[in-house]
Amino acid sequence: MEDIYNLTKEQISELLEKNSFPKYRASQLWRYLYKNDVNNFEEMSNISTPLIHFLKMNFFIGSVKEIRNIISKDKSTYKSLFSLKDGQNVESVLMNYPSDDHRKPRKTICISSQVGCALGCTFCATGQQGFTRHLSSGEIVSQVLYYKQLDNNGFFDQVLDKPEKSYKGIKNIVFMGMGEPLANYENTIKAIRILNDDKGANFGARNITVSTVGLVPQILKLADEKIQINLAVSIHAPDNQTRSQTVPINKRYPIEMLIDACREYIRKTNRKIFFEYVLLKGQNDTLDHANKLGILLKNLLCHVNLIPVNPTSKSDFFRSETEDIKSFQNKLSSYAIPSTVRMEKGIEVSAGCGQLANSNDY
Ligand code: SAH
Ligand code: SF4
Repeated sequence: MEDIYNLTKEQISELLEKNSFPKYRASQLWRYLYKNDVNNFEEMSNISTPLIHFLKMNFFIGSVKEIRNIISKDKSTYKSLFSLKDGQNVESVLMNYPSDDHRKPRKTICISSQVGCALGCTFCATGQQGFTRHLSSGEIVSQVLYYKQLDNNGFFDQVLDKPEKSYKGIKNIVFMGMGEPLANYENTIKAIRILNDDKGANFGARNITVSTVGLVPQILKLADEKIQINLAVSIHAPDNQTRSQTVPINKRYPIEMLIDACREYIRKTNRKIFFEYVLLKGQNDTLDHANKLGILLKNLLCHVNLIPVNPTSKSDFFRSETEDIKSFQNKLSSYAIPSTVRMEKGIEVSAGCGQLANSNDY
């Protein structure tokens, strides 16, 4: 038995042909799965009984089962603990953002690409738990479809606070949950292509963000994919000495190599890169660091997201002082580098960036 979310439309089509079913059924099936969000083959009323039987014998729909959930106090954030078919767990988060100066209210989901992570960034709860395995493309897609189905049923409008203006649907998908998506490159790209299909789930590529700690060969490969997703690069320090202290992969792909790859990515795709910079008090948040970061990123098509560190159980980093964050930001501005201090959500239920693990805080 396999998750049908693992298959592209072309793969479904080939499979049907091989088993003497009409190929055109693939498009019908695809619509049921990704437009009508059906999660039971029996509900596919236009599909012939023998085909339903064949599908039921060989496939199931969706690999995640929510075993716990928790809602933040301000009712903006919903975190799930999912169990996978082999008993492993991952966490994902849905965030309900109100409108702000630039944007309409929107729902964003933050999904996982691996069980754990091998890269060991010292401030990250996922890194602290180590690596277990990659997620399949179907397991990645399943997280999204799970939230999509709940959302269709009006579930989040009931359990979360509704932002003032009405809106429908999940807008953004960010690969900022557990794991390093570019270390699970093929499955991540396959899942994105499935979710992006305009005859199916139709998530716009521009509303999908992949966050990487900076795997240079994969960034270069991504530049050739011809897919208009957003790339976020977790930089966290402006020099190798500081970066290697908290981001071990920096020893393999030092900053100069990383920035060269980013420059090449921008040249090929013409897309802006989002640099993420977790602010760690006394570690990477001084004016000297800001100055070096300014010099490093000057003239690159980019935006910097400054993220005051969220607490995790096994690290004792603290958030930078508000004044220091302001000065850091002003210094970047003096190099004409735009930046935002990230509005974090769900910290008290450990649903913030870097806090996801197989946790027991439900
Ligand atoms: N592996 C990828 C994506 C997952 S982490 C990456 O590292 O980019 C998503 C973001 O959360 C990254 O920018 C990561 O550095 C950041 N993050 C990790 N731990 C954090 C913490 N304790 N507080 C705030 N952000 C954190
Ligand atoms: Fe892995 Fe990203 Fe966490 Fe680093 S920050 S340990 S790369 S998930």
